[in-house]
Amino acid sequence: MACLTSVTYSINVNGEITEAFQAKKGLRQGDPISPYLFVICMEYLNRCLSELKVDKGFHFHSQCKKFELLHVCFADDLLLFSRGDEHSVRKLLQAFDKFSLVSGLKANNAKSSIYFGGVQQENQLSILQEFGLVKGELPFKYLGVPLSSKKLSIAQCQPLIQKILTRIECWSARMLSYAGRLQLIKAVLTSIQIYWSLVFLLPQKVVKTIQAACRSFLWSGRASITKRNLVSWEQLCYPKEAGGWNIINLELWNKAAICKQLWNILKKKDKIWVRWIHGYYMKQQDWKTMPIPSQAAWVVKKILGARDYMATLPDGDTLMEQDNFSIKKLYIALRGTPEKRNWHHMISKSIVAPKCLFILWLAIMKRMTTCDRLQKFGIQCDQACCLCSQGNESLNHLFFLCPYSANVWDKLAMWCGVQRKAGAWDDEVEYLERQGASKTGKQLMYRLFVATIVYHIWRERNERRFNSKASHEESVVRQCQLMMVMREELNPKVHKMFVN
Ligand SMILES: [Zn+2]
Repeated sequence: MACLTSVTYSINVNGEITEAFQAKKGLRQGDPISPYLFVICMEYLNRCLSELKVDKGFHFHSQCKKFELLHVCFADDLLLFSRGDEHSVRKLLQAFDKFSLVSGLKANNAKSSIYFGGVQQENQLSILQEFGLVKGELPFKYLGVPLSSKKLSIAQCQPLIQKILTRIECWSARMLSYAGRLQLIKAVLTSIQIYWSLVFLLPQKVVKTIQAACRSFLWSGRASITKRNLVSWEQLCYPKEAGGWNIINLELWNKAAICKQLWNILKKKDKIWVRWIHGYYMKQQDWKTMPIPSQAAWVVKKILGARDYMATLPDGDTLMEQDNFSIKKLYIALRGTPEKRNWHHMISKSIVAPKCLFILWLAIMKRMTTCDRLQKFGIQCDQACCLCSQGNESLNHLFFLCPYSANVWDKLAMWCGVQRKAGAWDDEVEYLERQGASKTGKQLMYRLFVATIVYHIWRERNERRFNSKASHEESVVRQCQLMMVMREELNPKVHKMFVN
């Protein structure tokens, strides 16, 4: 209550400030009524500026005349436009001052700048002197993205890259498992990318840098670029049916998003920028054949140039004519349909813990860093299996032939009623493929069983190899049981099997 009543207010009535008085009920930032008050105030600004439309002494900016465009505002960011002569600038500022006098909302001169385009040097100087404004240089940031008529440079994209690196380099991100990192990449990083890629066609180099940072983060937990990739980025971007994890391919998504902007233009959406492009560049021309205007801003050229992407699709024209445009649909069309993997049911819509699923996926793809594979890449390590010391470590040995693993497998199978006897890795994958989308309790239980056991054996192997900590097989079985008990409740059919 103190913050509501401790503030004092004074009211600006016709330019005169009343005496300050104590608040009984305060209004603070975030109050539900503030957006309404804001809209009401801005409506008044609109009216003050609109008077200039009939003022003979005022001249519109040459690119704003057709639409009598005087200002663009979003929240407290305000852009005012006029011709670059003293007289028009004075009129514009006078209109704004009138608004300030009544509303009490003043522009912060320290945070305001004036931008010139094609104005002679001496005119610029006299305007700057008369109005005490600071000359700004393009590009400047508006709503978080750089505004420029030229090609987006790598340096301008640096804040975007930096934002992603900061997220990756924070200590908590380093503690994540593969599955956690994958989730972070999908949820947080792509949302940062998508905001920018809706507005601009990102330079190739920026896309590659972001992708390399995400890739390195997934495989090493750090943003510093590493070439140690267990599976290609392309495969990770595949949909789950094709054995991928559906990470967004930024380059294709960016193209699809720019195509949406082109669609907005073709559909003549009621947006000021769309009307502006029609008025100044399109002028009733056919979008497919019109020459791309050389004097247009880089962003506009890229949007109009998006027709080239549509031309590569057999149903590009139909997509453009539809009343609704889905970036996702176009993205899928641009990506194509990669070959399906029969075992994909194993990794999609599963009750298995994500961290186990990711390890199982690596095993199915035969990309686990077992010693036999490391040796193929020229990395020297002790080849002996650290679970039994009797054979050499390979995928087949580690999960099936190893007496230690076979024991864990048998004990856990007996505990949860799985009848199938472990064979070899390829047999297991083939068995999973044969089951396809089967959702019987028995099948779901088997998937949970395999994923849990593979994860825990792999973990035990890593504990022994890197931390010199060995657990007895009974303890691994108990860990598997604990995890299965926690996950079985997620599906009623599996739960029923457990209860019985
Ligand atoms: Zn072994």
